[in-house]
This record gives sequence, C-alpha cells and structure tokens, in this order.
Amino acid sequence: MRYGEGLLEEIRRRTDLVALVGRRVKLVRKGRVMWGCCPFHAEKSPSFKVENERRLYKCFGCGKGGDAFKWLIETEGLSFPEAVEKLAAEVGVELPKWSPEDEEREQKKKSLYDIVELAAKFYEAQLFEPGGREAREYLKGRGLDGAAAKQFRLGYSPSGNNALIAHLTAQNVTQDDIIAAGLARPAEDGRPMRDFFYNRVMFPIGDGRSRIVAFGARALEADAKPKYINSGETSLFSKGSQLYNFAGARAAAIKAGTIIVAEGYMDVIALVRAGFAHAVAPLGTALTEDQLHLLWRTAPEPILAFDGDAAGLKAAYRAAHLALPHLKAGYSLRFAFLPDGEDPDSFIAHNGAGAMSVQLETALPLSQLLWRTETEGKDLSTPERRAGLEHSLKEIVDRITDSKVADYYRRGFDQLVFENFKRRAPAPSRGPSRPVQRPGAKFRGDFKPPRPLPGSPEAVSSSVQTSALVRGGQAGVRAAKEMELGRLLVESPEIALAEAESLAVLDLQDPSLDRLRHELLNLAASGSSLEKAGVQTHFTRKGMAELLARFAGHPVDDPHASFQRAVSDLRELAGQPTDARRLLERRKALSDRPNDGRGNI
Ligand code: ZN
Repeated sequence: MRYGEGLLEEIRRRTDLVALVGRRVKLVRKGRVMWGCCPFHAEKSPSFKVENERRLYKCFGCGKGGDAFKWLIETEGLSFPEAVEKLAAEVGVELPKWSPEDEEREQKKKSLYDIVELAAKFYEAQLFEPGGREAREYLKGRGLDGAAAKQFRLGYSPSGNNALIAHLTAQNVTQDDIIAAGLARPAEDGRPMRDFFYNRVMFPIGDGRSRIVAFGARALEADAKPKYINSGETSLFSKGSQLYNFAGARAAAIKAGTIIVAEGYMDVIALVRAGFAHAVAPLGTALTEDQLHLLWRTAPEPILAFDGDAAGLKAAYRAAHLALPHLKAGYSLRFAFLPDGEDPDSFIAHNGAGAMSVQLETALPLSQLLWRTETEGKDLSTPERRAGLEHSLKEIVDRITDSKVADYYRRGFDQLVFENFKRRAPAPSRGPSRPVQRPGAKFRGDFKPPRPLPGSPEAVSSSVQTSALVRGGQAGVRAAKEMELGRLLVESPEIALAEAESLAVLDLQDPSLDRLRHELLNLAASGSSLEKAGVQTHFTRKGMAELLARFAGHPVDDPHASFQRAVSDLRELAGQPTDARRLLERRKALSDRPNDGRGNI
C-alpha cells in the first residue's frame, strides 16, 4: 500500500464524516448517530446511518458501508489514492511525496521480504541438519520440542562465515541485497563480506502481517557476547516500533481484552505454549513509545510481566514513566512481578499455567506501582520526608498530559497520602458491625474513611476513581480483592471465628478461594482451634498446598480491619450494600446534622 495506516487514520480522524456525507444526503440526528435515506438504494424511511465517533457510515437496507475514503470512492468514483489525496488536502494532512525512486524502493522492499523469507527457511532447515544438534539440544533443554520449533519457525545459523551468503548467492540474490536485508556484514578492514549470524539459535521476527522481517538470535557458545543479538535496522525492520509475535498475538489480545508483554523471545514462546496466545516482547530494547501505542491498539491495559528482582523493578519503573505522558482515559498499563529469579518461561515450568494466570490477574495497576516505588522500603517518618514524597508524587502527576487522568491520579495519591500518614485514629460513628476496638489492637490508620452514601457526588467520584485508577475492569478488581481476602484467611485463620457470619454469606468467584472459605467455616463450626499452623496442616492434608503456597510469606498487619475492608469492597463490587445497618446510621447522622450548605442536593 502506498500510504501507511497511521497516516490514513490521521486523515479519517480529522475528517468530519457527517459533514462530508451531509453534502449529498440529508441527515437527521437521533442520539449520537445521524440518519438519512440511503443514497445507494431507493428508500422512503431512513436506514442509513453515519457516526463521526466510529468514522463509519452504514446502510441497514442494502448493506453498503465504509469510511470516508470508501464514501468518496463510492459516490465520486475516485480511486483510492485519489480519495486519500482529496481528503488529505481538505483536512490539511501533508502526504509524503511519491517519486519514481520511492516506487523503486517499494519494489525493492518486496524483494527484501523474499530474501529474508529465504533466510528463515534456510535457518529452519539447518536446525534439523547434523550441524544443528547443539541448537536442538539447547531448545530441548528449555522444554521445546520439534512442534514448538515449527510453530515459531525456530532455526539455527551454522558456524562459519558465509553459509547463508553462499545459500542466497546460489539463488541469484545479490550481495547488496543480502546486506540490505540485514543478513550479512559488508566487507571491511580487509575482511570479506560475512554472515551476520553464526552458531546461534534463530528466532524469526514477523511484522504485523506475519512476514518475517528480521531475526533475534541466541549464542550457543557459553562465553559469546552478547548472548542475544538482533538484525540491524533495515527498511523492513525497526526494532523500536515492532514487537515479537505481534501478528500472532493480536487477535488473541483483542479476544482476551489484554496483551502480555514479556521480556524475551523464550518467555513469549513459553506463554503461548501455556495457552497465553496474547503474548509479545520488545526486540532487545526497553519498551518504546511506538511499541506502547502498538499495544494500546489491541488492548487498553497491557500487562507487563517482569522478573521480581531489582532489574525487573527498574525496567517496570522505566516503562511506567515512559507511559505517563501518553496516558488517556481508559488506557493504562499493569505490572505483574514474578517471584525473584523467575521469568515467565521458568515460572510456568515450575508452577504451571494456572499460577501464571493468577499472577496476571492480580497484576498491579500503574498507579499502584508508582505509589509503591515511591514509598516501599523508604523511611517516611519525618515531616520533611513526607513532604518530599508529596513532591515526587506531584512530579509524577505533572508528567501526565491528559488533564482528566492527571486529576484522578492527583486525587488518588492525595487519598493514599491521607490514609497512610495523615489520619490518626479510626473515624468515629461506625456501625455496630464494625469491630469493637479490642484491647491492645493496633489501629494503624489503614481504615478507609467512612464511605460516602451511594449516589452522592462523593460516591460517584470515588467509584469512578476506583475503576479508572485502581484496576482495569471489574473482574480484575474482584480477583485482586479476593486474593487479598484469601491471604488474610491463610495468615490469620482465627478471623473466621469472629467473622463467621460475614464469611458465610460471601460470594467468592475464584473456586479455590471459595473452597478455602468453606473449609475454614467448617473448621470454625466444628469447634476446632483456628491456630495458624494447625489450620495450614489441615489444608495441606486436604490437598490445598498449592493455594497456601500462593500466599506464603505475606503477613497481614491488622487482620480485623483488613477483613472488614476486603469484605465490604467485595460486596460493593457485587453491587450489594456494604452494610445496610451502617448505611441507615449514616443517613440518620446526616439528616440530624445541621445543614452546612453542602447537603441540599
Ligand atoms: Zn442502502
């Protein structure tokens, strides 16, 4: 195609389709959509609609429909390039100049695709030659069989200087083209032209249409440096704007509603083979802005999966800051940190796909990642340090260019600062279902402030805030909340005695967590002691060791407060009143209060 999709999209975005169609068809507004009588078939009542938001027109009578370009082609008989030129001129988009040289370059590109494809086939075949034994053993050692190698078109680049050059030359490919395709290094310093890749496992990299455009390659020699290399930039390949497995992942990502970004090729292969077809990886670099936009075209909240070590955290932090200026309503990132030392490949090998799902479902929203990186492991005990924290948070917010998103971040951070540092004691006037402060119990300020009444402006903004800031999608929020509750029940099972009533009516969607709840209630009802070690032994005997392992080593500070909070959040998510009695009390308290001028809505 002559013009890039990005350019065409820009023209569509700037075009007022309603006005354009309106020149020929009389349109009447109904809600957000304009309707008129179809110009393509005879009709008396309108079944032809035009939507500026979706940039489409459609007739429900004869089925004709399309975008602004299609409209001009269908109604003015223009060719596609003519339609593009006409609209571009109307909306002020400058088109790139198209010269005979461009034509030739485009022609050349096609042949470069063919050359890279020839190379891919060559490497694939070499993997199964005697010389590919070491590469096969490496892949086998990483848990990949022949089927996996075929699926991802893995290959082997032989040792020596010119195995590929010889192969391509024999097929009449010129030396210049081999170099232009990024497959050979030119002759220099008295050395002849030589293969770019040798003695490496080859990972072909496809473009958005699954055409191989480049290779990633892992060295087989233990001391080779660097361990991974990529093809250099060519006219087909720009490593900063493409993603490994993007074409394969796109449809799955749209279906799954999210896309997983792993760090390496092997991670992507392991994820896809474990059933996560919506996995991609950057190409040997940190995530770039171009890649971020590519990801957002498939899913609003891509999940970045990182190793939970210092390097992983650093990479996550960098990605988070890269994203800030580009955040817009509904579009963000989430972060899954695997246990220290694990990448998705090793994590799936050790723990299975189910455990990986949990990691992905409970991925941290961007806002929480930022809060944690600013606060975790930091001594914030002095006023100066807290002021410093507020300053850092403000700097983060200032980098967000979308004013609406920035506003929610500001309010979210304000609330976190308030909850963590400014509140001294639990708010008064809690309903009778709130735990009575037990002697010696610590109130560490981790209560939420009293919830606003449903329907009040406060309540609306806080619930919007929850969905915009705290987690992508209700399902994600629920999964995370349920995990929080599960951890609590594992760490402080005795809570089931005091809270048996709330626990009994709780509706948990994760089956294994619901089983945990059920078993715990049974134990409580049977009068057993709910001491942690005994309960854990009991659960292990019941075959729930894997569940326990999920929560190991996450002590909970104030189990009662956390329990109340988790239950009330879950009930709220399920659309149930968090506590009917408390609501009534709050209502009464409000109506008794003298009118302060804010309550008369
Ligand atoms: Zn029609």
